[in-house]
Amino acid sequence: PDPIHVVGGGLAGAEAAWQIAGMGVPVILHEMRPEVATFAHKTEALAELVCSNSFRSDDDEQNAVGLLHWEMRAAGGLIMSTADRHSLPAGSALAIDREPFSAEVTATLAAHPLVTIERGEIAGLPPAEWSSVIIATGPLTSPALADAIRQLTDESALAFFDAIAPIIHFESINLSKAWFQSRYDKGETEADRTAYLNCPMDRAEYEAFIDALLAAETTEFKDWERDTPYFEGCLPIEVMAERGRETLRHGPMKPVGLTNPHAPERKPYAVVQLRRDNALGTLYNIVGFQTKMKYGAQTDVFRLIPGLETAAFARLGGIHRNTFLNSPRLLDGQMRLRADPRLRFAGQVTGVEGYVESAAMGLLAGRLAAAERLGREVAPPPETTATGALLRHITGGADAKTFQPMNVNFGLFPPLDDVRGGRRGRRDRYKGYTDRAKADFGAWLAPAPVAAE
Ligand code: FAD
Repeated sequence: PDPIHVVGGGLAGAEAAWQIAGMGVPVILHEMRPEVATFAHKTEALAELVCSNSFRSDDDEQNAVGLLHWEMRAAGGLIMSTADRHSLPAGSALAIDREPFSAEVTATLAAHPLVTIERGEIAGLPPAEWSSVIIATGPLTSPALADAIRQLTDESALAFFDAIAPIIHFESINLSKAWFQSRYDKGETEADRTAYLNCPMDRAEYEAFIDALLAAETTEFKDWERDTPYFEGCLPIEVMAERGRETLRHGPMKPVGLTNPHAPERKPYAVVQLRRDNALGTLYNIVGFQTKMKYGAQTDVFRLIPGLETAAFARLGGIHRNTFLNSPRLLDGQMRLRADPRLRFAGQVTGVEGYVESAAMGLLAGRLAAAERLGREVAPPPETTATGALLRHITGGADAKTFQPMNVNFGLFPPLDDVRGGRRGRRDRYKGYTDRAKADFGAWLAPAPVAAE
């Protein structure tokens, strides 16, 4: 068969190339380093870890990222098998000796007879004669390629920084304090969970919240992030609070158009609103609360909000330089660009977040592209698996209007049938999710039975 071209030799591109070659299809992997550099990469190795050396939890029974490790190992993933050979002791986390790890990924791919590595930037749309392409150019996609993608789609298709508000597990929100209502009710209901969730504050609570925000430790913008133009509409909340103690009360925390059914006679002084973050209704984000506060400070400050005292966070807020597509709008369920289906996308540029998630989306894109090339298109794994849940989130589960990058977490999984009433404890539930995922991922990997002659 004709080769598949993979653009970008990071975590996602390296894994995609490995999977394609593993299915017997030739692959050409294009990496711009060392000819063209990025802000963050320091070497010319493939699959360089640009910052921490951790793949996070390796617990495949109680942790969603640990489950993703399991699924990638089950699929014969190069990133995981190489990580396992270069792991460093770090409790239940999988930490990696970064240089030998990247060197071995590079050497393994270079030695594969079906893999060709070409160094050089793809500085525009891939040539028309490349009939199957995976773009895995990551959060620091080169400007020439990013511009070309924007032209092919539209201005709002590609973001250059993220502005992530914290995301909370619905089940951890105290509904004896919070209530469902949209401002000036427009018929949204609690039952279909289209309404916002509201958390009221009285004056003393608001003042204490502002004090905590102003005192919280923040993460510094890196030099190259400081140059990133970010819109007034996406200012971190602590920056808004610095501009004036009333700014938030006139912005994302304005109390107008809402009546608290728990205390209808008392008008709230300020209101924090949460919006449903996924189609399943298991996750809610805090509207307008993007932040550069340190993670520890975030949990302390946000748990001051009435109704969120025991909030469990699926992810905390952040703002980073990050090029990513509006995937829910632009990609189909096979990770292909609707506007030009010969192009697939994989890795962080699809709006997943993290080394492991990026590699997992590379693994999946590689398998889908190779299957297509071989004329036996496969369905993606079901959303009960970690890989499938992430894919479903970026290609349709998340709301395109507010799409922001996402880590894998159990809030993305469909609830277990027998726990809708919350009968199981958390450990038991997580074990239920991982057991179900392993069975379903195993079935997805198994070759289709050959019909009897
Ligand atoms: P990358 O690994 O960045 O790979 C993309 C590759 O494409 C690069 O090698 C690049 O050189 C190449 N490329 C780009 N444009 C072109 C082009 N036009 N032609 C040819 N090649 C091109 N995640 C974590 O889990 N932990 C962390 O600690 C962490 N820290 C991060 C720190 C920074 C500064 C950034 C930017 C991101 C960080 N991330 C972290 C997020 C993310 O997990 C990593 O960026 C991860 O490497 C993404 O994998 P990827 O394969 O999508 O992209």
